[in-house]
Amino acid sequence: MPIEKCAICGRRAPRYVCQECSRHVCGVCFEPQAWLCAGCSGSPKPKAAAWKSCTWPIPFGLFIVGLVLILVGITLVVTATMLSGETVPAGAVIFIGPIPIVVGTGSCSIWAMILAVVLAILGILMFVIYRKRAV
Ligand SMILES: [Zn+2]
Ligand SMILES: [Zn+2]
Repeated sequence: MPIEKCAICGRRAPRYVCQECSRHVCGVCFEPQAWLCAGCSGSPKPKAAAWKSCTWPIPFGLFIVGLVLILVGITLVVTATMLSGETVPAGAVIFIGPIPIVVGTGSCSIWAMILAVVLAILGILMFVIYRKRAV
């Protein structure tokens, strides 16, 4: 049975397996911090580096909270208008960044729009409070 040799230098016995190319390499030809062989650590893949440096500008959880609040607001508006028996007005607030854009159609949509704006303001307040706590 032949003794396995390091895939890089071919002299020492391999002790590690590179997570990138899965070659068996010795301790000298291995970077334990990155868990990569000498060949892979010298030329890291640009895709992996870009992914690691990519971070969300704001916590993703807050974005989800904002979206949920908007959805709840729209649902409330639609439910309220349906219960009041008005002629299918629709009010919605669409967030583009921190700026809410109010969209309203129908003859009695003003109340739906007002409710949507109030909910949007509440959503922004929640967002600001959470952001202050996070900092
Ligand atoms: Zn080696
Ligand atoms: Zn490697």
